[in-house]
Amino acid sequence: MRTEVIIQEENRIDNTSLTRAGDIIRRGGLVAFPTETVYGLGGDGLNPESSRKIYEAKGRPSDNPLIIHICRMEDLYSIVKEVPESAKKLAEAFWPGPLTMILPKADCVPKETTGGLDTVAVRMPSHKVALAFIKEAGGFVAAPSANLSGKPSPTLAKYVVEDMDGRIDMIIDGGDIAIGLESTIVDLTGEVPMILRPGYITLEMLQDVLGEVTCDPTLLDGTCTDRPKAPGMRYRHYAPKGDMLIVEGSSDAVVSAINKMVAESKAQGLKTGVIATAENAEKYDADVVKIVGSRQEATAVAASLYRILREFDDEETDAIYSESFATDGIGQAIMNRLLKAAGHKYKNLWEDA
Ligand code: AMP
Ligand code: MG
Repeated sequence: MRTEVIIQEENRIDNTSLTRAGDIIRRGGLVAFPTETVYGLGGDGLNPESSRKIYEAKGRPSDNPLIIHICRMEDLYSIVKEVPESAKKLAEAFWPGPLTMILPKADCVPKETTGGLDTVAVRMPSHKVALAFIKEAGGFVAAPSANLSGKPSPTLAKYVVEDMDGRIDMIIDGGDIAIGLESTIVDLTGEVPMILRPGYITLEMLQDVLGEVTCDPTLLDGTCTDRPKAPGMRYRHYAPKGDMLIVEGSSDAVVSAINKMVAESKAQGLKTGVIATAENAEKYDADVVKIVGSRQEATAVAASLYRILREFDDEETDAIYSESFATDGIGQAIMNRLLKAAGHKYKNLWEDA
């Protein structure tokens, strides 16, 4: 299959080519498109054949459900059984934006899209290209992240091309992505709303709107033996090819512990890498040191994390050591993705002290 790449800037949308992109979806094809979180791999969410194609293009297990992206609030009513008060409040506060809600699905949503579940995940993104594209596509675009299964979600169009060229009909290049981590997922089907995947919309922000909100206990705790409630969180996602370890402790202790392990890895002939904050980057002796951002600016860390994980793969780094981040606000999402990338390998120097 030949994959066409078109460029769409958020402040200069070309409707003719987006109509073409929308037609591809209406005919059952696949189009990757930019959103404010990461690039999505879109198909018609109400067409079971399209969902099957998405799983195939990604190499994704078909029990891992897709998120349906909409562009108008009223469209939510056609794909869910009922819209509870909590969903209305959250939509009012955070849509369009990086929040996905889980609700009981309406009959028109095929089980192929929901991985066999009776619930459906819905989000209205805020990216203007995404909104215009969804409208042209008929209003219901099922889209997981546009990466091959097991790779970090793409935050640059070049990574979508790397993973999807020859597998899908079109890629809409919308330039850099603002947030860089996937949407927050909140399950509204239980008694108390529960975060199944942390993201830019934080626990504190949801609590401000709804009062009581809980978190799936498996999100940060690698020792928790419960099954994560979002099927996708059960897979080892976002993994670089190299072995990765996260180190937590005081700034100086982290630098010296990482440098010691770097020396040991080098002695074994391994290529070493460090995910460093701007504050500490110059202190590391590793072969490759990547600055993920300043410790003072968590949103910048979130935005560059996946790009950096991919760069370590490109440079064939064998052993990667990462600094750790506070888990308040968006830090919860950053640490959740880092821990998953590391397969929960984590060294706590506070406990060792
Ligand atoms: P991705 O599109 O790659 O960001 O993945 C979508 C995420 O949403 C995965 O982790 C899915 O398991 C999760 N998800 C989608 N639909 C549901 C649902 N009905 N119930 C729980 N989790 C869901
Ligand atoms: Mg994904």
